[in-house]
Amino acid sequence: MEYWQELLRGSIESEAQLIERFGFKSEAAGKLNEFFQTRINPYYLSLIRYKGDPIYLQAVPDEIELDDIDAPDDPLNEDAMSPVPSITHRYPDRVLFLVTSQCSMYCRFCTRKRKVGDSSKISMKYIQEGLDYIAAHPEVRDVILSGGDPLTLTDFMLEKILKGLREIPHVEIIRLGTKIPCVLPQRVTPKLCDMIKKYHPIYVNTHFNHPWECTPEAKQACEMLADAGCPVGNQMVLMKGVNDNAEVVKELMQKLLAMRVRPYYIYQADITKGANHFRTPVKVGLEIMDKLRGWTSGLAIPYYVIDAPGGGGKIPLIPNYVVSHDENTWVLRNYKYDIYSYPDVVEEKPKAPAKKRPIRAPRKKKVFADKGEK
Ligand SMILES: *Cc1c(COP(=O)(O)O)cnc(C)c1O
Ligand code: SF4
Repeated sequence: MEYWQELLRGSIESEAQLIERFGFKSEAAGKLNEFFQTRINPYYLSLIRYKGDPIYLQAVPDEIELDDIDAPDDPLNEDAMSPVPSITHRYPDRVLFLVTSQCSMYCRFCTRKRKVGDSSKISMKYIQEGLDYIAAHPEVRDVILSGGDPLTLTDFMLEKILKGLREIPHVEIIRLGTKIPCVLPQRVTPKLCDMIKKYHPIYVNTHFNHPWECTPEAKQACEMLADAGCPVGNQMVLMKGVNDNAEVVKELMQKLLAMRVRPYYIYQADITKGANHFRTPVKVGLEIMDKLRGWTSGLAIPYYVIDAPGGGGKIPLIPNYVVSHDENTWVLRNYKYDIYSYPDVVEEKPKAPAKKRPIRAPRKKKVFADKGEK
């Protein structure tokens, strides 16, 4: 067994462990574990500094989860966009491919609780159906391996899937959506990186939510992936009590850049079963964005998005920088709220066509080609 698998074996999972380690009452521990199973591996556990801290809140169940057990368990309407159980096809040219139900930690805020955990095992048949779907849909040029966490699979299993995807000529890029570099960085081994390298272009999107997660171990894992040729991005979920504060977010984004991870998205927390206590007002997210842009490297600034309830996809929100505008001028404010005006290009109104000109059908393609050749 590899070291990371041993670590995973040592996770806190049972009712008895919840009671012993965190002092839950027996009834509460039972109910919580039944609602959404606990898994806290010893590495992530070691990051907790005190009860209720930003690491604790993400990993340790809380009775408050049981208050909104009636909330939707598929807030993004993913199931309706699943032509086969392992695929979510929402956008024109890319799909989510759910290749495992396992994670190396179960995040209390997870929006995919219905698909995640020991009770929903994924079989080879289920994966083959996904590969067949992708092969039959030439418009799919980008495949995001997700789950669960694809890096909880063995190298052998993961390679089988990557190889399967690379046999499909229209699949241009593959992404790994994985929390592993943050929650179990020991899983990123030289052997894994050597295997991944063979199937480029592979992008990795990971999931750090707090600067305390940026440990030397995590840094090493991210650097190994970057050295293996994978551009690494980060998707943060905005959560009350965890990172709903501009200073914390800025520190996280800067630390990520120093680990060669490029911030990609900040997600507004989804409306989801057992996790609504993490939600923050949208204005908090906008204020955070306002305190990033201009104040630190542009590279540190992700898109802030709301994944529209009901399945509309990710919608970006940005603070308003336009004070006013008319036909001639845009009045803008900068990051310090100083006001500037920008004279716009005023296009001449199209003249009425001369009568004698012969009328031809527009030849759009030709026009572009001519421009390109110059
Ligand atoms: C987030 C997401 C994607 C990927 O979106 P990008 O903006 O390309 O990163 C694809 N499919 C689904 C269903 C998603 O939720
Ligand atoms: S790693 Fe992702 S899928 Fe797994 S529990 Fe956390 S949020 Fe959910």
